Amino acid sequence: MRCLLFVCLLLGCVPSFALDRSQVEGYLLPNGLQVILKPGYERDHVSIRLVVGVGFDDFPCDRRELPHLLEHLLFSGIDESGEGGLEERMQALGGEWNAYTSNADTTFVIEAPARNQRKVLDLLLAILSQTQLDENALELSKKIVEREDGGHYSHLQRWLDRQDLGHGSSDQLAVELGLTCAERSSIDDLRLEEVDDLRAHWYAPNNMTLIVVGGLDRLLPAYLERTYGQLDPVEPGERRSLETVVQQAEATRVLTSGWLGNSAKLHWLFLEPALEGDREQTFNLLQRYLDWALYSELRLKHSLSYGPSSQREMLGNSSAISLNADLDRESVDEAEDLLRKMIDQLRQNGLDPATFERIKQAAIAREAWTTQGNAALADYYWSALGDYADGRFADPTSKLRQVSLEDANQAMRQLFAEPGYLRIERSVFGYDSIYRVLAGIVGLILLAGFVWHKRRTSQ
Ligand SMILES: [Zn+2]
Repeated sequence: MRCLLFVCLLLGCVPSFALDRSQVEGYLLPNGLQVILKPGYERDHVSIRLVVGVGFDDFPCDRRELPHLLEHLLFSGIDESGEGGLEERMQALGGEWNAYTSNADTTFVIEAPARNQRKVLDLLLAILSQTQLDENALELSKKIVEREDGGHYSHLQRWLDRQDLGHGSSDQLAVELGLTCAERSSIDDLRLEEVDDLRAHWYAPNNMTLIVVGGLDRLLPAYLERTYGQLDPVEPGERRSLETVVQQAEATRVLTSGWLGNSAKLHWLFLEPALEGDREQTFNLLQRYLDWALYSELRLKHSLSYGPSSQREMLGNSSAISLNADLDRESVDEAEDLLRKMIDQLRQNGLDPATFERIKQAAIAREAWTTQGNAALADYYWSALGDYADGRFADPTSKLRQVSLEDANQAMRQLFAEPGYLRIERSVFGYDSIYRVLAGIVGLILLAGFVWHKRRTSQ
């Protein structure tokens, strides 16, 4: 009995340990570096994200690859052992690292054993402050970036891009609306001085956020102040404002992808209206609702598409919701009709209240498990930096709860107030048309043979 009592007491003592992910230890170092620390679930590991506030969008079209080029250059080595030596040092610490350049930022991503966290941070600081950029490393990094972009940018590809033929649907629409660059940035003519300049003006502590999640070292704050705190702040470059819609786009277009094939893709894109207040979660719920509506309509009821989906994406400074379906070539018209009816019906009757509630509750439930583990939590903080202030990240769960059916209906009616942009992607020929062409050719050959034979026998 005493034993049982002890077990009960013990269980009672185990804290119901639920980590409040919104709450972090966040502060600015005197040089402006923003630090976000969070003890995570796994104590023997740390996830580190160093987010530098510079990305593709900070440069004009022909210079967009500059931040990406610098990101690669920073892994070229800090001494004569070069990039291999750098990698060996990270391996010896048991860590792995990588970096990513996006439209909005450049981020260094590290996973490492907690016991080596300060040594790993030393190495990260070394590549930021000690890497010597030279022409050899520049040439090598240019080749890597070129390969990542899909190989050498040929004249044919450039010409196709100019004709709007080399892009996927949302990219093509963004180009048509004047929201993004029509062509890939050149890489060959980017110069070392430009990369140096970018590093000097943008890689400043007051333009960086350091996120560390996991088994935090007790001495970490003092260490950071002593090391990262010594980086000199500079006036960071002015961020370019994103492109706004400046051109008209056609309502419907067929985009060719490849020469031969029986499949097609339908994308129907709608620019989100600017609503008053923070409507981020309203549009998130609306997108989830539309995702279900497409699945129900195109797959369950009509078996036209296996993976129809809805997505939200940024096009320049605008966000768009797309309705997407993979289809057979012949089913494109039928799918378009069904979607038109679905949109009309939504406009008239509004969202189905029970379905909306179910999708809303599922979205709220999802928030409880999507950021499990140090790495996922660190990625979450990285993606949610815009919602961070004074040691707190905004809590998406409470915002989701606040979205009412009326809010979602209002957003939906405003979204579908414009006809949107329909884009069909398909190859030049379907197999059927190829068979018809082949049959025609065989017929002509037979006919010619027959005529020739007839002439010879009549001579
Ligand atoms: Zn890259």
